[in-house]
Amino acid sequence: MIKLHRTKPYVILCYEALFRRLKEKYRNNNVINQDYWNYLAGYRGEQTVDYKLSTYPQKRFFEYQSLRLKVNHNFFQIDSLLLSSKFILIIEAKNMKGELNYNSDSGHLTQTYKNVEKGYQSPILQANSQEMQLSYWLQQVISVYGIPIESLVIVSDPSTIIKNNQNDPTFYNKMIYADNLIPKIKEMTIKYTKNVLNKNILYSINDAFLKYNTPLKPKLLDYYNINENHLIKGIQCENCGSYPMKRMYKTWKCDKCFYADPTAHVRLILDYFLLHNATITNSECRNLLQIDSGKTAYTILNSMNLTQTGKNKARKYYAPKLELFPQDSFVPNKKKTILQL
Ligand SMILES: [Zn+2]
Repeated sequence: MIKLHRTKPYVILCYEALFRRLKEKYRNNNVINQDYWNYLAGYRGEQTVDYKLSTYPQKRFFEYQSLRLKVNHNFFQIDSLLLSSKFILIIEAKNMKGELNYNSDSGHLTQTYKNVEKGYQSPILQANSQEMQLSYWLQQVISVYGIPIESLVIVSDPSTIIKNNQNDPTFYNKMIYADNLIPKIKEMTIKYTKNVLNKNILYSINDAFLKYNTPLKPKLLDYYNINENHLIKGIQCENCGSYPMKRMYKTWKCDKCFYADPTAHVRLILDYFLLHNATITNSECRNLLQIDSGKTAYTILNSMNLTQTGKNKARKYYAPKLELFPQDSFVPNKKKTILQL
């Protein structure tokens, strides 16, 4: 039973907002594009795990598709988690191409792809550390002790080659292909037969997971040192690319091609939430949309059904929850296609 569904994470939504907001000449920046494609590849790997788990409908598990929790001021991120009354399974998805070579002695992972070698921290140690962090979190936050925690690293692309020169059984039991995920879970259900948690505790863990889950919201403008001069001012015309569109008779009109779109502001305000701030005021909205009328900004903001606090000039409108952001908005950088992932 899925208790927490995966949506596009903030980090990907934020990159897509950034591509929409950057002036055209900055959109093809290699560093930004590469970072975006890496996150997108990771997301695709996580979706592969979701799919595999969906082929094994298991009422005895609660499934959490992505969970980010905090222990001692530090967050730890789990790609997928299965909770049962007998054990917990942490799943870390790796979507990496080429050949992966794991050295059990040094704990180092080397990826060779298109003749380029790249080193990574040990996914095994990473998974072990997640087990410890989760165990600590369960004790500290909700006083739950003694539930066995297992972890697996899933290589989501079947064409990836995994090698381990030491033939280390720990490695081969821990880092597996997505196709082996369900047989591994079945093995674990045979291994753990004892009910460690009663129903009440199980539900209190579920409630705590949902309550304390804090998805990461990156600040991309700060991270890449992007300022207002790099960004498009006002609404860009979807049809011809010029900006800003003008507000006329309850719609947005392009001066150049006369394209009209009555709801063109919605995407821009949502992008503002993703890139600038989790709240917006009337005056910030006017600046964003390049309009003078406070009344128009008021009407527009109210039409979006956002949570609001304060009155008059102090009124603030709040960003919707992660799952309410549109998942498939237009992304203007066509430099790479999905096939080049
Ligand atoms: Zn136009």
